[in-house]
Amino acid sequence: MVATRELEKLNLAFDLLNAGLRISFVNEETLIDKRTLRLWWKEKHGRPLSKGRRLNSIQGFIKSYEIAANLSAFISLHKHLYGSDFSIKMLYRIWKEYQLTCGDLDINIAYLSLRDIRRGTVCLSYCNCCKIDFVYDAANRYTSRCPFCKNPVIKN
Ligand SMILES: [Zn+2]
Repeated sequence: MVATRELEKLNLAFDLLNAGLRISFVNEETLIDKRTLRLWWKEKHGRPLSKGRRLNSIQGFIKSYEIAANLSAFISLHKHLYGSDFSIKMLYRIWKEYQLTCGDLDINIAYLSLRDIRRGTVCLSYCNCCKIDFVYDAANRYTSRCPFCKNPVIKN
């Protein structure tokens, strides 16, 4: 017999795969073996997972103010609702909410954005004009200032 908690984990993993989250991320978060996940993926998507280039951070992904603004909004939504807490279940809930209210966002990018924040490879800054956190990286032209109002970061 499958315990309720185990059943919830299996359902969540299945939902995450349906949303397109990479097998390695689902495996990392649920500990369900990759072979099973690959079978589920193929069953759902009708083809094996493509072996294209895979990002391991959002740093190489932010190539416009629009992308920087979308990721900042997603991260801010998560921070507003859950603070610094993280679980894959929270990520899925926030991602679904974001899809409904703000538009499409690749779940892998959503996952990487929160992972980067947790690991400290990406940091947030606060815009006093927009009253919102945004992804900040001085080395990237699209994250060296607020992506919403384009005002430069004012260091205190
Ligand atoms: Zn701003």
